[in-house]
Amino acid sequence: MAGNTLKTYQKMRDFKSTPEPRGSPAKAGRVPIFVIQQHDASRLHYDLRLEVEGVLKSWAVPKGPSADPKIKRLAIPTEDHPIDYANFEGVIPEEQYGAGAVMVWDAGTYANTKAEIHGHQMSMKTGIERGEITFRLNGKKVKGGYVLIRIKKVPEEIWLLIKRKDEEARTGRTPSSREKARSVLSGLTLDEIREAAK
Ligand code: MN
Repeated sequence: MAGNTLKTYQKMRDFKSTPEPRGSPAKAGRVPIFVIQQHDASRLHYDLRLEVEGVLKSWAVPKGPSADPKIKRLAIPTEDHPIDYANFEGVIPEEQYGAGAVMVWDAGTYANTKAEIHGHQMSMKTGIERGEITFRLNGKKVKGGYVLIRIKKVPEEIWLLIKRKDEEARTGRTPSSREKARSVLSGLTLDEIREAAK
């Protein structure tokens, strides 16, 4: 199943040219992980990826997550990525899809918290199909409850990422500036990752 949903990802890339992982299957039954990568492609954005049934379900979040429940962040679904993409940091070459530097801006585990507000558990997969998931992130930078909700289905899906009101909510808090941001994996900035790849 994981192989199937990675077809788009694999078709879009030439693994002889890009340092990105081709993707290997994930172990079942573990605590699911999440990663937020800073990606300096044609436009700097954040990629939020949540482990769901063996792959990383992915959304491009142009402005990144906010800790302020009043701030709604646009989130555009992208193709499923392999689990090992969570450790990918480096530079995607010029002629490849998504060319530019990638940094692991935050990473950790998450919990599906649908039951907290709806009273019954629903799988992440079903939630994504229905257009609403709620989850608690346990990262180094990003913590607490979030909701991802689909507000438009055609011609292209548009979702919103919104902080839930909880003890981790902060008024006006947004991600650190591009210059100051460092990887939780290597401690490097995007510029340093670019230098290291030369
Ligand atoms: Mn991206």
